[in-house]
Amino acid sequence: MTETDETYRNGDETKISYYHAHIYYGDDDAVREKAARLREKAWNKWPGQVRMGRFRDTAVGPHPQAMYQIEFDPDLFPEIVPWLMYNRDDLTILVHPDAEDAFKDHDWYPFWMGEKLDLRLEFLRAGGRQA
Ligand code: ZN
Repeated sequence: MTETDETYRNGDETKISYYHAHIYYGDDDAVREKAARLREKAWNKWPGQVRMGRFRDTAVGPHPQAMYQIEFDPDLFPEIVPWLMYNRDDLTILVHPDAEDAFKDHDWYPFWMGEKLDLRLEFLRAGGRQA
C-alpha cells in the first residue's frame, strides 16, 4: 500500500454521529419477507434505540437495490453489529458511518455482510446527503 492509499483511507472516527445498516432485498418477494422478519426482530430487541427506515421497494440514491435502513447510535454498535452477523439470514447488509461526508461514509469507510454491491456513488459525489 502506498502512502497515498493510506491518506485516502484514513479519517477521524470520532466524528461519527450514527450508523446506518442498509438491508437489501431487491425484487424477490421471499427475500423481502426475510428482510421484514429481520426488521421486526431488530425493532423488538431495541425498541426506541433503533430508528427504522421504511421499505424502499425501488432503488434510491446510491443504493442499487430495494432496501430499508436501520439507524443506530455508536453506543449500540458493539451489540447490533454482531447480532446482524448472526441473524442476517444470508441477506446482504451495508453498514456505514454517518460523519461529515456522505461520499466517504459510503465509499471509504463502510463494510459489507454478504455480497458486496456496487453503490451508485454518483449520487454522493455532488455532495448529496441522502441515505
Ligand atoms: Zn445510509
